[in-house]
Amino acid sequence: MSYVHRFIDDGSCDLPLGKVVCVGRNYAAHARELNNPIPSTPMLFIKPATAAVSLDGPITIPQGRGACHHELEVSVLIGEVLTNSSQEAAKKAVAGYGLGLDLTLRDVQNTLKEKGHPWEAAKAFDGSCPLSAFVPVEQVADPLNLDLQLERNGVLQQKGNTSEMITGIFDLVAFMSTQFTLLPGDVVMTGTPAGVGALQGGDELVLVLDKYCEFTVLVG
Ligand code: ZN
Repeated sequence: MSYVHRFIDDGSCDLPLGKVVCVGRNYAAHARELNNPIPSTPMLFIKPATAAVSLDGPITIPQGRGACHHELEVSVLIGEVLTNSSQEAAKKAVAGYGLGLDLTLRDVQNTLKEKGHPWEAAKAFDGSCPLSAFVPVEQVADPLNLDLQLERNGVLQQKGNTSEMITGIFDLVAFMSTQFTLLPGDVVMTGTPAGVGALQGGDELVLVLDKYCEFTVLVG
């Protein structure tokens, strides 16, 4: 379970793992599929460092706690301290881009939502954030126009583009920095496109980040 950040080319990365800051409902089609209103400001939550595991997997999902959904998201590796930052400063602070799964215990989350309770039990459990290696920032031509997709057992489930985000990557990172200081090694998860669904043991997932990288992941 010991996760360390890596880059896809030579693998090495000096940044220590920190927290993972996430946003809910950042793609309109995903908000609609779960019958959720679109928030007027980004709806943030945090996964602790203990949530991070390598996407190299196999990944494990909790047993006996209802459906565990995949949410494919573009992940952003933060390389500099950000507090109350501008969009420009946020852009300069990015060290790399990758893919992550915001694993969500959907039944647990629905119960928590009904009661008006916080989401951590559904979102922040050990292993709830499988993360890929990161593409170094200088290799990514246009972060605001990145395709992402997830196939489960050969069937396309999720497909989106970062241009479809309600709050774009740099505005989102800047907003997050007004709520929580982001530290080098923190990861920002940027929200999931439509097509979320339950995982089963034995599933094979293929995750693609535009032309940059593809990962095959087994669910243990
Ligand atoms: Zn998510």
